[in-house]
Amino acid sequence: MQMSYPIIKSTVIALVILFTGCSQPENKTQLQKPDFKKETLTQSIQPGDDFFRYVNTNWMDSNPIPDDKSRFGWFDILLENNRNKLKTLFAEAAKGSKEKGSVAQKIGDFYASGMDTLAIEKEGLANIQFILDQITQINSPIELAKTIGYMHSLQLNPLFYYYASADEKNSTINIAGIYQGGLGLPDRDYYLEDDDASIEIRAAYHAYLEKVLSFSGEDEASSEVNAKQIITFEKLLAEASYTRLKNRDPHLTYNKIKGEELNTEYPGINWNAYFEGLGHETPKEVNVNQTAYLKELENLISNQDLNTWKSYLKALTIRSLSAYLSSSYVNAHFELYGKVIQGKEMMEPRWKLVQGVTGNALGEAVGQLFVERYFPPEAKQRMEVLVENLRIGFAQRIDQLEWMSADTKIAAKDKLNAIKVKIGYPNKWRDYSGLDIEPNSYVSNVLASNRFDFAYSMNKIGKPVDTEEWHMFPQMVNAYYSPTGNEVVFPAAILQPPFFYLDGDDAVNYGAIGVVIGHEMTHGFDDQGAKYDKHGNLSTWWTAEDSAKFATRTQVLVEQFNQYQIKDTVYANGELTLGENIADLGGLNISYAAYQTAIKDKGDIVDIDGLNHKQRFMISYANIWAQNIRDKEKLRRTKTDVHSLGEFRVNGALRNFDAFYKTYELTENSQMFLNKESRVNIW
Ligand SMILES: [Zn+2]
Repeated sequence: MQMSYPIIKSTVIALVILFTGCSQPENKTQLQKPDFKKETLTQSIQPGDDFFRYVNTNWMDSNPIPDDKSRFGWFDILLENNRNKLKTLFAEAAKGSKEKGSVAQKIGDFYASGMDTLAIEKEGLANIQFILDQITQINSPIELAKTIGYMHSLQLNPLFYYYASADEKNSTINIAGIYQGGLGLPDRDYYLEDDDASIEIRAAYHAYLEKVLSFSGEDEASSEVNAKQIITFEKLLAEASYTRLKNRDPHLTYNKIKGEELNTEYPGINWNAYFEGLGHETPKEVNVNQTAYLKELENLISNQDLNTWKSYLKALTIRSLSAYLSSSYVNAHFELYGKVIQGKEMMEPRWKLVQGVTGNALGEAVGQLFVERYFPPEAKQRMEVLVENLRIGFAQRIDQLEWMSADTKIAAKDKLNAIKVKIGYPNKWRDYSGLDIEPNSYVSNVLASNRFDFAYSMNKIGKPVDTEEWHMFPQMVNAYYSPTGNEVVFPAAILQPPFFYLDGDDAVNYGAIGVVIGHEMTHGFDDQGAKYDKHGNLSTWWTAEDSAKFATRTQVLVEQFNQYQIKDTVYANGELTLGENIADLGGLNISYAAYQTAIKDKGDIVDIDGLNHKQRFMISYANIWAQNIRDKEKLRRTKTDVHSLGEFRVNGALRNFDAFYKTYELTENSQMFLNKESRVNIW
């Protein structure tokens, strides 16, 4: 499990997602049959040397990265297709009667406000001035704490996130949580490392801050001084922040206390003022994820002068909202976050950006329109069958594991049987009637939506977890496993080619969506998921001996991935990506086992387009990760993403998969070859 930043805006909760991307997906040709042919495979590359490029070179050559993207793969193609579908739906919503308060009115007006660039240029900072004024007027630590609380209620998140999620040791109840945050760069490492890329990014961040401060009316001298001060301040936050690795330890980040104990445990922060600003009561219980970080905040509060605080809060407000302001702010934002950090060459067209923001603010309303139009009920039925076959395949694998004791096997199968499954879309849709959207100000609409989502989340604190709720929209090409819910969730949009072919042969579907299902199920049993029981509570259900054996095996996988070179002296981070790598390997093994059951009574399977069925299974797997990616984006992801790069998700997993060796007749001279003893077999 991991912190996954707002999959759905406002939920800062732990989910294990299939990949880290942007969001959402169609398909002009709407392939319902796979199109793999022997001729499209690269004959000059031996499959056992580099299976990723053997399968994908043709695809990579014909799908260069567009200037406005940092990576281009199937997920991005589906995202683009999806945008065209949503464009149609939005246009229809805007055309209808638009009765005030209706979903169509909200979607239509939100989108229109974002496209009205004339009004946006004219309004300048006028519609966020009330926040900036409050910051300017801070003149005591109490007012500082109150303002921080107020900003959190707008989901501008200085210092930390405050949110609701299931109690990890009592998973049926929601509690409040505090999680480190408040940095302007994507990870603490960017402030602390001295490699060329980090230095370049810090310099660009400095230039960015200077620019936006001067746009906001500061003179040259003061914007220069303040920019420097803000980065120095954020560096202190970065130093106090836990690393991503440390945050992967759910026991370390579980520190539940009574809400009122915040006052005694962290007295340097004025919590009463904070909750007053937030507009919500002190919670009964709260989980402080990073205790040492919060301690450090107390020091910061007593040591920093109010001017530094004000500069920090002001810059954070403008930075968080700059994508919804006038073009000078939008361009400066892109220059830093798009160009320098991700390597994009140009910005996406405005309609796509605004559609994304609207779709995020009204996600389930958009999702409802999406599934009514584009999601065939047959897909859900076929998917249900697949999931149950995968469950059987997984149980067979557990029975056959030679390293696990009988007792742990029983517990593992118990947990497997308890996994809940959600497919397509939620049974009940979220109600947006409390969200007021007007056609006249884009940034005001964004703030209204932030406030609405935050209140929605606060309302959950202390109440039972709603097991019907989804943490991803149906229009997103992705999937997740929730450790506290012990559930796997597959939104409608991933149930399309190349993941899922309604009329495809079994080999191809098991190689793609089957592996995805197996991947998500395995998350319940990866290095993190294995720490939660079948009810989703953080508790041990393994024998100590089996835990030790598990750790030994996973360590070998860590070492394998540590050897993959990303660029120059940068290597993949096997520890950070361990959970995902276990899930990829588990997904392959489990889906392959399920596939064997599916074809058991089918006799000989005929070759299709010159490829036998085992080859089609593996080609289908490699194909879903086909992608091109920029160097800057590779480096950024290596620091921040818990998923391995596409090429290693394919080659790094397959070289541990015995069936791959047989199907492609690998020899000791094959570059992907590993001795039988060096291959990792976990699930
Ligand atoms: Zn995953």
